[in-house]
Amino acid sequence: MASRKIVLTFPKDKIDKPIVFKLIKDFNLSFNIMKASITPDQEGHMVLELDGDKSEIDRGIKHLKDEGVKVEPLSKEIRVDWNKCTQCSACVSICPTGALYVKDRKTMAVDFDAEKCIACELCIRPCPPRAIKVHF
Ligand code: SF4
Ligand code: SF4
Repeated sequence: MASRKIVLTFPKDKIDKPIVFKLIKDFNLSFNIMKASITPDQEGHMVLELDGDKSEIDRGIKHLKDEGVKVEPLSKEIRVDWNKCTQCSACVSICPTGALYVKDRKTMAVDFDAEKCIACELCIRPCPPRAIKVHF
């Protein structure tokens, strides 16, 4: 038995398809959905922990890729350099999981919840002072 944590990005035309559930039926895998963020008409993101035979995990991941899903290992970590951050909140509306959020509506202070982050990297480019970095 093997276990692997992966980050899935679904194109918007695939989010309502039962692609992930075929992992159980066709590849005899079990999975735990660690995080998911799926909004109609937008990209969907999901973090899965897959359990099963190693070769079946490889086949299952190939199935996901063949269906047009982007698959990446969960081996990245996002960090915010608060010394550089100007609290502009540009990242907040972009973050699909709410990991970057306004913690105080009066001051519009931004905070980061690493537990919610799926390392999709969507926030990195829009950050004007480049305060958000990915670490491997
Ligand atoms: S990488 Fe950035 S945009 Fe993506 S979930 Fe993490 S904080 Fe949000
Ligand atoms: S976009 Fe960058 S500078 Fe603006 S609030 Fe987010 S982390 Fe801070």
